[in-house]
Amino acid sequence: MKYAVIIGRHTRIFPVEYREDADTTIIIDDYKDLADVRNQVIEFLPEAVYYDRNVYDQKDRKTCQELAFDLDPENITCPIHGSLADKMKRGQGLSFCKVELNMVKEQALNLYEHLEKQFSQMRLVYSGRGFHIHVLDPAAYAFDEKKRLEIARAVKEKGFAIDEWVTAGEMRLIRLPYSLNGLVSRIVLPLEKRELEKFDPIHDERCLPKFLSKRALTSS
Ligand SMILES: [Zn+2]
Repeated sequence: MKYAVIIGRHTRIFPVEYREDADTTIIIDDYKDLADVRNQVIEFLPEAVYYDRNVYDQKDRKTCQELAFDLDPENITCPIHGSLADKMKRGQGLSFCKVELNMVKEQALNLYEHLEKQFSQMRLVYSGRGFHIHVLDPAAYAFDEKKRLEIARAVKEKGFAIDEWVTAGEMRLIRLPYSLNGLVSRIVLPLEKRELEKFDPIHDERCLPKFLSKRALTSS
């Protein structure tokens, strides 16, 4: 398994000694064990940590890939704020509101239930913005590119606001569960499907990093 960090590409926050590498995607593939991975990650104080969903053989050739779905609020057209393009025009970039968050949550639940018809080993993860659904069925790892694209298109046609290229296989890096999403100061959190309906990432302590004080949150 390979891991990766981005130190400060979006936040522009980085340890001074890593200024030169702040924008770089740094791959971590030389380590003793997971504790060692953690130490290497912490050394960079990164804004984002990923794992590589590609599976490699002994000669570092890609053999297969985890199937994943990425649902983000920016793909949702909000009844109040409109589409991502509308928000960009107003300089609101990638911000999103509670309506969008609830819409993306509902989509995650519906997509999970839709995928359950075909797959049996799935994981749901709050990404800090939206949700990821990971499919761990061995059969799904073996899907070729054509099959992945077909699945991505079929899911989009059903109205799910996924990033097509993630499901199609182009993006190999996925946020590492329990890492910090530094863009929104939230912990990437695995969830059970039954928890989703009541899940509130604004206040749920499991996804609040320690550096955010309770007082700061209750006053916002
Ligand atoms: Zn909105």
